[in-house]
Amino acid sequence: MAATSRKTKTATAGTPTTPARAEKWVYLLAEGRADMRDLLGGKGANLAEMTRLGLPVPPGLIISTRACNAFLAAGGFPETMWQQVLKALRKVEKLAGKKLGDAANPLLVSCRSGAKFSMPGMMDTVLNIGLNDEVAAGLAAATGDARFVNDSYRRLVQMFGTVVLDLPDEPFEAVLAAWRKKRGVANDADLPADDLRAITDEFKRIVRDKSGQNFPLDPLEQLRLAVAAVFSSWNGKRAIDYRNAAGIAHDLGTAVNIITMVFGNMGNDSGTGVVTTRNVTTGAGEIEGDYLTNAQGEDVVSGVRATKPISALKTEMPRIYKQFAAICRQLEKHYREVQDVEFTIERGKLWMLQTRDAKRSAQAAVRIAVELANERLITRAEAVQRVKPEHIDYFLHPQFDPVDRAAAKARGDLIANGLNVSPGAASGVLAFDADTAERWGVKEKKAVIMVRPETKPDDVHGMLAARGILTSRGGRTSHAALVARQFGKPAVVGVLALEVDAERRQFSIGGRIFKEGDAVSVDGTTGDVFAGELKTVIPDFKDPHLLKLLGWADGFRRLGVWANADYPADAERARSYGAEGIGLCRTEHMFFQTDRLPVVQRMILAKTDAVRDEALAKLLPIQRDDFAGLFKAMNGQPVTIRLIDPPLHEFLPNHDELQKAVTELETRLRLHDDGKGKQAKAMTAELAAKREMLEAVESMREQNPMLGLRGVRLGIHMPGLVRMQVRAIFEAACACVKAGIKVKPKIMIPLAASSAELKVEREVLEDEARKVLKEQRMRLTYQFGTMIEVPRAAIVAGRIAEYAEFFSFGTNDLTQTTFGISRDDAETGFLSEYLTRGILQRNPFATLDQAGVGYLMELAVRLGREHRPGLQVGICGEHGGDPASIDFCHRIGLDYVSCSPFRVPVARLAAAHAALREA
Ligand code: PEP
Ligand code: MG
Repeated sequence: MAATSRKTKTATAGTPTTPARAEKWVYLLAEGRADMRDLLGGKGANLAEMTRLGLPVPPGLIISTRACNAFLAAGGFPETMWQQVLKALRKVEKLAGKKLGDAANPLLVSCRSGAKFSMPGMMDTVLNIGLNDEVAAGLAAATGDARFVNDSYRRLVQMFGTVVLDLPDEPFEAVLAAWRKKRGVANDADLPADDLRAITDEFKRIVRDKSGQNFPLDPLEQLRLAVAAVFSSWNGKRAIDYRNAAGIAHDLGTAVNIITMVFGNMGNDSGTGVVTTRNVTTGAGEIEGDYLTNAQGEDVVSGVRATKPISALKTEMPRIYKQFAAICRQLEKHYREVQDVEFTIERGKLWMLQTRDAKRSAQAAVRIAVELANERLITRAEAVQRVKPEHIDYFLHPQFDPVDRAAAKARGDLIANGLNVSPGAASGVLAFDADTAERWGVKEKKAVIMVRPETKPDDVHGMLAARGILTSRGGRTSHAALVARQFGKPAVVGVLALEVDAERRQFSIGGRIFKEGDAVSVDGTTGDVFAGELKTVIPDFKDPHLLKLLGWADGFRRLGVWANADYPADAERARSYGAEGIGLCRTEHMFFQTDRLPVVQRMILAKTDAVRDEALAKLLPIQRDDFAGLFKAMNGQPVTIRLIDPPLHEFLPNHDELQKAVTELETRLRLHDDGKGKQAKAMTAELAAKREMLEAVESMREQNPMLGLRGVRLGIHMPGLVRMQVRAIFEAACACVKAGIKVKPKIMIPLAASSAELKVEREVLEDEARKVLKEQRMRLTYQFGTMIEVPRAAIVAGRIAEYAEFFSFGTNDLTQTTFGISRDDAETGFLSEYLTRGILQRNPFATLDQAGVGYLMELAVRLGREHRPGLQVGICGEHGGDPASIDFCHRIGLDYVSCSPFRVPVARLAAAHAALREA
């Protein structure tokens, strides 16, 4: 009742009896908290939090980001702000026991920017505010250190001139240089007190001459102008550029921190340092960082003086170290996170000047997350969430040594940047074709980088032998990218500036020529290409912290994580990385091996059934061994084998090259005297073979092969081929079972668009399966399913589910067919322009287009399961290894994602993130 009447009263009240209170623009440190970053900026909010915790923070006040925005909008301080500053300042003076402008006991303050997000060095700072002639004299007498006081004073005048009045720094530096020369010293620190006093006077003259106004001797005037300058620096060019690059909003504004100055340069019982509460390179649980005795903050960061490791403070100032270490522990406990802190010791008293969450390496991120959870500072779920997919990826690939990399950059050896399609770093000598790459890589054991305009299936042996791959064309789902990712080879593709001259066996870029045998380095993580060799470091996937964290992730995820693997070695690797099945074996990849390709070609070119059957019979035992290897490697886990998919011309020589060879042979034969003789005969025979091949290639030529005779269409058109594959699968499965190996075969039909196609194809294939089982007198559980790779399949997924016992989204093709963008050409064509111009936000071949392709997927899942409850659905396109896409797959209820073996650990983490996000 009472509540109701109060409410009624307020609602009916007329004009308020007291005037609206002015906005609170100014906060004492004790009034703020860590969660007030929006209002107080990151630095201010954390100083306030440390103050609240009772840590030794110099007294101070913060002017809010809202005041900054009001200032920028109105061109002046908002009403009452300055009065609030003066009021708060009186309290700060009381806390510090000093007074601004009091020559006998002066308070000096710093005036620093501090935005919500750190923008290091992008905005203004003025230190030592409060000094004038009188105060300097008083302070010198009180401290007995005129040199220190005069140096502080000259710094104030210099900073005031350059920062507040926007004068160039050169005239000030010229004065310093002249005095150093006069005294024959190298450092300003070696100039005596009287010189510094004279320099200060000269600085004041520069200020007057260049700005037309005197350096203000009134400390409050100094402060007022400094605050306005810091506010204005939010819209300085440097700050705007930084925000654009870092994606920080322009309307946040900066807070201003006005904090009592403390000095680390007041003798050998003073000092200053910057540390992290743990080692942020390795993650080890020890305080790490540097400090200097008798120095100011900038001396530590600038590297002018050699710093000491923080451990030395233990012996140099044991009492301070003990207090500091305890504060570090307290901060970690409080923030539940490793901190990056700054401190100063002024005459034996410790002051904390900053704390914030520390940046860290991938290795440290994992170890720190696990150890914080073990110490019960965070939960296991939080530990899993704190590690990013990139951190995991780091452990799976060699990386360039950061020092070596920086040196190469400085030398001008960074020659190009392309698409970073397969992570990891590799150096080696250039080989311009697959055979050379194989010869050098396998036989001569050289480190090779294979470079091509683009790769084709018959380049695979060279790619396998190479350490890294570089192409001038192709995109994220180009052949080179797919194969490289699958085998964990670092690859940079689509380097358009690279002009590859395969015939002269060289490429040119930016006016430099690189020949076969020259060394280059490719970084598939960043897309960088360097001239010369760079040192690589190999992280350890068996890192115990990583294994522990991934184990925790597995406990949270609902999605299964499977792998795309064609060969037993890939399957074994995938399992060792935690894969729970094979989601895609691209059977055609096996056809490309050098010893098999001629048989495959004979099969394709056969003019009679007898010749074709003979070729198929040769392929059967080979495929059987392939599949048995996979079953063995996965022992009881599902193995999804996709029947042949690509258009057959991919197995035949290139049309244009054949044409060229035929013309050349014809010309040479014409020129060859009478067309007789041994050489001419050989040429004639070669010409006939080439012509026959050319004819076959021409007869199979399609304008749009990716929309042509491939996938299920090819299976229907050439049933003998897929029958052979099914027979191989079942014979292998039976043999494995007999040898005590568990098998779970799943036969996957690619590119179906209608249920009728599946019906026809499945009848043929099941017939073959039954035949084998009968011959072998065995029973097996197996499934027939389909890929969903064209929009129509998703739209009629209900009917498709009648003939498919599982679905797997082939999102490479589904993206291609939904957008109508060729996946092979897209990323080096207009797609990059779309991305730079923002017409597309993200590359849909890398991250699922949720609105379009994702819509079709969601529809297919729903319709499929309506018709076949419990239908198992997965994804095996490249998106299966992309964290944002994995999150989407989780949300639409897929059962598993399948990705390259090297993405499996990343997918395990991303799937856990998806589940935790939902919870
Ligand atoms: C797909 O299209 O997503 C797929 C996995 O098949 P492929 O990349 O072999 O066409
Ligand atoms: Mg496909």
